[in-house]
Amino acid sequence: MCMNETNNAEGTAGGSDFISDFIKEDLASGRYSYVHTRFPPEPNGWLHIGHCKAMTVDFVMAERFGGKCNLRFDDTNPEKEDISYVEAIKRDVKWLGFDWEDREYYASDYYEYLYDLAVKIIKKGHAYVDDLTEEQISEYRGTAVPDKNNITHTPPGRNSPYRDRSAEENLELFAGMREGKYKDGEKTLRAKIDMSHPNLLMRDPVMYRIRRDTHYRTGNKWCIYPMYDFQHPLSDAKEGITHSLCSLEYEIHRPLYEWFIKEAEVFPSRQIEFARLNLTHTVLSKRYLLTLVQEKHVSGWDDPRMPTLAGLRRRGYTPAALRNFVSQIGIAKTDSTVDIAFLEYCLREDLNKTSRRVMAVLKPLKLIVENWPEGKAEKLEAINNPEDEKAGTRTIHFGKELWVERDDFEENPPPKYFRLFPGNAVRLRYGYIVTCTGCDKDADGNIIAVRCTYDPETKGGNAADNRKVKGTIHWLNAADAIPLEIRLYDYLFTSEKPMESSFKPDGTAETFLDKLNPSSLEVISGAYGEKCLAEAKTGERFQFERLGYFVKDCPAIPVTEAADSGTPVFNKTVGLRDTWAKIIKKG
Ligand code: ATP
Ligand code: MG
Repeated sequence: MCMNETNNAEGTAGGSDFISDFIKEDLASGRYSYVHTRFPPEPNGWLHIGHCKAMTVDFVMAERFGGKCNLRFDDTNPEKEDISYVEAIKRDVKWLGFDWEDREYYASDYYEYLYDLAVKIIKKGHAYVDDLTEEQISEYRGTAVPDKNNITHTPPGRNSPYRDRSAEENLELFAGMREGKYKDGEKTLRAKIDMSHPNLLMRDPVMYRIRRDTHYRTGNKWCIYPMYDFQHPLSDAKEGITHSLCSLEYEIHRPLYEWFIKEAEVFPSRQIEFARLNLTHTVLSKRYLLTLVQEKHVSGWDDPRMPTLAGLRRRGYTPAALRNFVSQIGIAKTDSTVDIAFLEYCLREDLNKTSRRVMAVLKPLKLIVENWPEGKAEKLEAINNPEDEKAGTRTIHFGKELWVERDDFEENPPPKYFRLFPGNAVRLRYGYIVTCTGCDKDADGNIIAVRCTYDPETKGGNAADNRKVKGTIHWLNAADAIPLEIRLYDYLFTSEKPMESSFKPDGTAETFLDKLNPSSLEVISGAYGEKCLAEAKTGERFQFERLGYFVKDCPAIPVTEAADSGTPVFNKTVGLRDTWAKIIKKG
């Protein structure tokens, strides 16, 4: 858990985290006279909560130093990228409340510029066209091997036999690669650095590969595509990015980032890494999230169990809760895993202040008030949000037949059960105190209704009412309650760290899919809610009293009318109980 490493990304005035310190130094030394960052998603999947951290860092750092932040699509891999991902990413960045204004860029717009820089590096004699295959390249590069003391060594690699081609020959071959003279994989352009460099990434990395694939923006115009390590620093430079902030796995790429900037003689952007966000019970990698979607373990990228921003939104998360969460965990230099209970805590903090209270009954049981006149409906006043006076009150109706939760009645109650059982009195929230008189059963002995009498002196729990009862339960007036479909969620993975290696009882390795929670979704179709829920807008959030926070379902791609049963669907966001407070208490 990284709470003790907290350095606010958002809250601290002036900034006291290590990235702010680097930026301050750079401004003081005159290395840069302004701050310009970028958020560079690859459009090969939807954004997840890890990206929420990255973009918060990018946008907030720019804002803190009076600078700008670009949105750049890092789209140089034609196989996996798609316009639908671009749209989803833009929607999610906006939803979180970040604004790139008119600074929307695409690395695919830089292909010509990147090609020219590659030519420049070839002319300097620092890049060459290689005929080795992908397998040969990695074989020549060598691998890291541990010695008997488990210290890693990287024995020198071998030079490619094509490494010493002349600049002229390389220029001609590279032009031929662009013109489509060669088959996919037949040639590559490689940086000529050092085949015995201790960092394997510096051993003549590939700059361009031949790939005949239709790119979602450039179509078939290109059959060579730049590799990330070549493209990213030069795209940063093109946009005058001062601080290229990225997650820690890119630390080992930094020497290469600097090498390309130096060789291409472009604006000297600086790469700074920070720890990735990891969450318990969660997988945070687009590749694995894509598998969940493609193999239909979830209903889509916006399934409310997914850690994607669209999934979290559909689950009922608010932008404020997510931004506050990212701000609280801070920016650290070492990777750690944050307990998902802390994310839920940040969410409850926000929802408690902002969501309207209403009553809903998930598993209904009829409660008949025996001494209530047939056909009479009485108005009661219910408070919309005790945390927010401005939210006001609403009118609900009391009647002869009510719905209560099946769990709120026990014929033979266990000790400390303070709800309905024969002879016991409870308060019906905002209504009267009722005393249970028994229940009705069908021929098989199943309870089909509970009976009670009400005390007319106890309306609305007013001050004149000095009867004390131990239990208060929620209820609905059966005459005007509306049917609801409720979806309850649990963690998608039973394991705390689904990516950690583990084994099945037969000794074979488990994958993250083996750790999926088989009961992460429960659909309740026979629920009821207050009449006012019929007017709930998609994405509107409520607290269902005693049950938790719920949100009117808001799929990213709206459900077609034909597929819509007409029954309002509410997703459970999170329960009321604060598990994080418990964790803190336990130490
Ligand atoms: P993934 O591992 O999910 O495929 P990625 O790094 O390939 O992520 P990009 O679209 O390239 O995804 O990421 C955009 C930015 O988000 C990068 O700067 C990356 O460093 C950052 N980022 C991705 N995942 C995380 C994470 N879990 N925590 C913090 N930053 C992240
Ligand atoms: Mg990436």
